[in-house]
Amino acid sequence: MMALEQLLNRLKMEDHLQSSLDSLCEHASKQDLNYREFLEQALLQEWGGRHQKGLESRLKQARLPWIKTLEQFDFSFQHSIDHKIVRDLAGLGFVERGENVVLLGPPGVGKTHLAVALAVKAAEAGHRVLFMTLDRLVSTLMRARQENRLDRQLQQLTYPKVLVLDEMGYLPMTREEASLFFRLINRRYERASTILTSNKSFKDWGEIFGDQVIATAILDRLLHHSTTLNIKGESYWLKDKRRAGLVTTPATKEDEPSHAPDPVPMSSD
Ligand code: ADP
Ligand code: MG
Repeated sequence: MMALEQLLNRLKMEDHLQSSLDSLCEHASKQDLNYREFLEQALLQEWGGRHQKGLESRLKQARLPWIKTLEQFDFSFQHSIDHKIVRDLAGLGFVERGENVVLLGPPGVGKTHLAVALAVKAAEAGHRVLFMTLDRLVSTLMRARQENRLDRQLQQLTYPKVLVLDEMGYLPMTREEASLFFRLINRRYERASTILTSNKSFKDWGEIFGDQVIATAILDRLLHHSTTLNIKGESYWLKDKRRAGLVTTPATKEDEPSHAPDPVPMSSD
């Protein structure tokens, strides 16, 4: 018979189960576990270790700017967000269906926080995730085109099941950049989810892309299967400062029209 150590090695259980085998056995005899309970504990140890390792590597690959979770998001502060919609998104059905999420609103209202939190959820569920600012995406695509490897680059960017594109609209795009962006959205269309954040409302997208026709095409692809969250209200960060008396500008009013995009159906087919 093969020695237990050797067997665990062959089964590739040396990192997790084997390394904790002594303490598992000790625990089992102390707790007087039966065979079935012991086996369950042992396999759970192995599975937990593997899951944790996989998650860590997916989070590393994701290149998130920082890690924030949905649990850390204060919904009582952000009244414009429908808690139920976010809970729905957290169930990750949108990822399974390859649908998109668009988070709109002024700076500081938690767009990136929510996008990162959903990305973390997806990574926990075993999906491949990638975070990029829109600015970086555009320069990546432009460089790939110059170096004659655009197709390969676009292909690579279709692999992540969830692609977060942060901060669309801070910088306008040239026509060429916008058309590269369209090609990416088109490639990912109905295959993989894109979470996009922007401080601009949909009606200002023509300006961002420098071309109404491209803007319409992008919106069409992006919103066909999508959920849009319109976040209004004031910056979370400013709120704290204001409370502490460090900032004295008046709070933005809820009904201020500046960042309220045209109503778009939450989900459409
Ligand atoms: P945006 O991307 O909309 O500009 P961020 O997501 O970067 O805003 O949020 C700014 C900071 O405030 C982040 O540290 C974020 O975690 C925090 N924050 C924003 N809204 C909330 C909230 N409702 N609850 C908890 N933290 C929040
Ligand atoms: Mg942000």
